[in-house]
Parts: sequence; structure tokens; C-alpha cells
Amino acid sequence: MTTAIHPTVDRGVSRGAEGFAGGTLQCQCTKDKVEVKISAQVAFNHACGCTKCWKPQGALFSVVGVVPRDRLSVSAHGDKLKVVDEKAAIQRHACTACGTHMYGRIENKDHPLYGFDFFHPELSSQPGWDGPGFAAFVSSIIESGTPPSKMADIRQTLRDKGLEPYDCLSPALMDVIATHAAKAKGVYKEA
Ligand SMILES: [Zn+2]
Ligand SMILES: [Zn+2]
Repeated sequence: MTTAIHPTVDRGVSRGAEGFAGGTLQCQCTKDKVEVKISAQVAFNHACGCTKCWKPQGALFSVVGVVPRDRLSVSAHGDKLKVVDEKAAIQRHACTACGTHMYGRIENKDHPLYGFDFFHPELSSQPGWDGPGFAAFVSSIIESGTPPSKMADIRQTLRDKGLEPYDCLSPALMDVIATHAAKAKGVYKEA
């Protein structure tokens, strides 16, 4: 028996199509859908166990990745969007009618991940998005109600799907964040 992680993980993680250059996200309203146009392949796509990311009904994890912020723009019904939590580092713009988070943006220029917009590729019907490559903040699903006793099975299911489980971000992203901190302190200078 396998544990349900997220629909796009459970049915097998897809790899990005060669030359794929983005698509359009749609919220889950039946009419006047909010649309967000993305003109790049997703980067750092991953399953996220944090309590802030939007996830589909019944999923243990969200699936979320990034593009440079100049590659993402609201293309329809942006008036329905509202920031979920103004104080959060990532400002998640959600549809006020259906609740779907359409994108997350960092406005603090000193934030290590400033310049990346976060989004959920599953909201686009175009095939070709690169599937998740790792799982982040895995232990945090306990905060959403998963019994701790289930964690070993869940971590094994993630590994079986090719998603290495981490309890923070992946080493590559943690290195980006630490490099930003080191530059800010003057410890590290780019060659
Ligand atoms: Zn909506
Ligand atoms: Zn998250």
C-alpha cells in the first residue's frame, strides 16, 4: 500500500518536455477564472509539507516551484486576487472566490530568494512542466495533522517516487540562502 502524497506525484513524477516555455495557470472557479501567464519552465519544483502552501483537497503535500518574477504575470481577473498573509515573507496571492493560491511573490529585496515567484504548476493544463525533484519541510505535515507514527512510511514513499525528503529546503537551495547571508556579512565574495 502506498501513501497518497499529491496527485501529480502519486501518478508518477513527469519530467519536463524539451523546449517547454511555460503555460497559463487557472484558478478553480467555474467562471471568471483568474489566469496567470508564465513564460518559462519551472525551476526547483518540489513537494512542500509546510502549512502555508496551497494544496489540493486530500493531498499531504503541495507541489510548488519558481520562475524569475519577470516571467510571471496576471492575465485575467486579477481583481479577484488578495494576499493571504501580508506579514509572510512570501506574499501568496489567492483567489478570493475559490481560495486557490495563484502565485507567491517576495517583496523584500534583502530576502535570499527575492526575484523568484512561487507557483503550483498543476494549475496549468499544458503538458511539459518539470515534475517535483525533492520534498521540502517534510516534518511539517505533522503540524497539519499527520500522526508522527506515519512519517517513516511517508518518507519511504517519497524516496520510492524519486523525491529525497528534507526537513528544510534541498541542499542546493540551502546553499543559495547561506551564500546570500555570507555575501551580506562580507564573508564571501564572488570571484
Ligand atoms: Zn477562483
Ligand atoms: Zn510550502
